[in-house]
Amino acid sequence: MEVTTDPVCGMGLNPEDVGEQSEYGGRTYHFCGAQCRNKFDEDPAQYAGAGGDSDVRRADVSA
Ligand SMILES: [Zn+2]
Repeated sequence: MEVTTDPVCGMGLNPEDVGEQSEYGGRTYHFCGAQCRNKFDEDPAQYAGAGGDSDVRRADVSA
């Protein structure tokens, strides 16, 4: 089963079960709830790369 991480609070998530998501830097980020998604949308650069694997940081530059 694929698992992703909420980049705001660090919670592990199953993407198929998560309704809250946002796109940034060509990647889709998933969130445990609207409050985390809103935080991410306010300052995506602060959170992008914090929740995924190490390759995420390099991909962020294109944004
Ligand atoms: Zn969260």
